[in-house]
Amino acid sequence: FKKIPLEKKSKDELGVMGETFNAMMSQLETNFEKQQQFLADASHELKTPITIVEGYTNMLKRWGAKNPDILQEAIEAIHHESQRMRDLIQQLLLVAKDDLDQGELNKERVDLVTLCQNMVKPLIRSHERGINIAAGSDQLVCTTDRGKLEQLLRILLDNAMKYSDKEIDLFIDRQDGMATITVADSGIGIPKEDLPRVFERFYRVDKSRQRKTGGSGLGLSIAQSIVTSLGGTIEVESNIGEGTRVTIAFPC
Ligand code: ADP
Repeated sequence: FKKIPLEKKSKDELGVMGETFNAMMSQLETNFEKQQQFLADASHELKTPITIVEGYTNMLKRWGAKNPDILQEAIEAIHHESQRMRDLIQQLLLVAKDDLDQGELNKERVDLVTLCQNMVKPLIRSHERGINIAAGSDQLVCTTDRGKLEQLLRILLDNAMKYSDKEIDLFIDRQDGMATITVADSGIGIPKEDLPRVFERFYRVDKSRQRKTGGSGLGLSIAQSIVTSLGGTIEVESNIGEGTRVTIAFPC
């Protein structure tokens, strides 16, 4: 071993330790700020439906017993807002869960064609919606995390149904060890300037149209973090008034 003078060694080490410490602190600060922002956004999103429910219950208390029209309107609004809150809380739980179990995969052999067929069958029945599946082969078996993949596809199918009222197409394929699944709709589309931001938490293209469709702006950010944990990517192509295609690619 080469002998390093004590004074010099400790100075170098202190320098390195100081830099590492500063880098760790600034990372912690950034994470903390992100958490704070997330909490603020989540509370804000929950506040709106709660205020509406409060308003309608006050109206019910005052006039509900005498006026059947008010009674009906209030019941519908309270029901609608409760559903919004339920959906939002479900998504917030997904975000929290995803932040906690980053990277933990439960891999098994999955036939992508059967998985997609099983997912769309109940949707076709319950939403009376045409959903077509086209695959590169009758069976496309991958080793991946079935639960995460289902969660991811549910978000994409849910969006395709929310933002279009026509048929939806699913394309499944595999090439060079990568599987791709595309969910394509012919709905309202996304403006070009909004495309780069749709993966941000709570980002919504147009707040007024979300009020009707009940979106929270969390779906695609959850989808992106799931696909990243699968080692894959997600891409959105869209033309306003023509439709949207979301493609996920992951190791197969
Ligand atoms: P949300 O839960 O509000 O739908 P997402 O994160 O899933 O939030 O989507 C973010 C934004 O992207 C939304 O504002 C929505 O307007 C837009 N968007 C997502 N998918 C589609 C789609 N298939 N067609 C049109 N717009 C979409």
